[in-house]
Amino acid sequence: MLKPSLSGAPVSSLEDMLAPLPKYRAKQIFAWINAGAGAFDLMTNLPRSLRNELDERFCLRKTSVINSFEDNSGGAVKLQISIEGGIIEAVALVDAAGRRTACLSTQLGCAMGCVFCKTGGMGFKRNLDSSEITEQFYHIRDLYPDVANIVFMGMGEPLHNLSGLRQAVSTLCETSSQRRITVSTCGITEGIMSLADEGPAVRLAVSLTTAREALRRKLMPVSSANPLNSLKEALLYHQERHRRRITLEAVALGGVNTSDEDAAAMAGFARGLSVVVNLIPWNPVENLLFEGKALKEPSAAELKRFRAALEARGLKTVLRREKGRGIAGACGQLGATENV
Ligand code: SAH
Ligand code: SF4
Repeated sequence: MLKPSLSGAPVSSLEDMLAPLPKYRAKQIFAWINAGAGAFDLMTNLPRSLRNELDERFCLRKTSVINSFEDNSGGAVKLQISIEGGIIEAVALVDAAGRRTACLSTQLGCAMGCVFCKTGGMGFKRNLDSSEITEQFYHIRDLYPDVANIVFMGMGEPLHNLSGLRQAVSTLCETSSQRRITVSTCGITEGIMSLADEGPAVRLAVSLTTAREALRRKLMPVSSANPLNSLKEALLYHQERHRRRITLEAVALGGVNTSDEDAAAMAGFARGLSVVVNLIPWNPVENLLFEGKALKEPSAAELKRFRAALEARGLKTVLRREKGRGIAGACGQLGATENV
């Protein structure tokens, strides 16, 4: 049995874990963890006997990086991280302005079964705990000390692991008040309401994919239990409380969801919300079929036309660059271990 890790606990939880130690000790230890200390013995403002005792009871990291892959463009680095029972992936991305963003996983696998996503094809193994989530960020920060922003767009559905997500977000926000954190969900209505009511006040990205209800049901089984009208209500409710623009993610699947009808439906869905549409050209994953046919990337002309159709209907769009493709570290490609 692994010793419990102290890495995923905000100071208040550390105080409980370390009781009856005085509270200032929890603060000192948190500061060391945040500074990247790899061993209790380095915590020189703690008495040696305490360092030894902590070392017997706890560890500082319970996960370890087993592989890293750098994209040719230098834009993305994927880390494979070993956890109890499997391997998860986290990606360090660079945006156009040169800022580093950490893309983190919240589950080992995913139960949602979206037909276009590699993680979906793995099935669901288990939720990650707060240490397993927080340590992904620390592993990335070991390589890139300036990484600040976080997107929960790795493996898994974050809103099906709200407790792990909440605890990790509290911990990560304590290490910097400047963090910009975005949670991407496939559209779990109940989870969105829970975020609206109880926080944390993260930015929201919703993987809409299409606003044509029947097509969405086929592409994303989750939409049967979370139909578009209730999803929209939840987004309106969230936006009323948090007053932040919501990102609608739309993975563009060649010949499937890029028609004028899709553009019109999306504009209809967006009415009354403040949104930006993030168009993501589908990243190839082998052996994924939709209605008996292999999924394919949208052509450049198709993407251009779809984007123009969205813009013509008043939707602001952003085309996501395909960072990470060469290392299977791009959106929806996470989950393989053998082909990299
Ligand atoms: N489960 C969450 C977060 C992880 S998926 C969610 O679904 O939002 C992150 C994003 O990757 C989603 O917007 C999803 O639509 C997109 N995605 C999945 N598979 C993809 C693929 N093969 N190519 C491009 N984007 C993909
Ligand atoms: Fe899960 Fe998101 Fe992939 Fe759907 S797109 S299977 S919700 S990780």
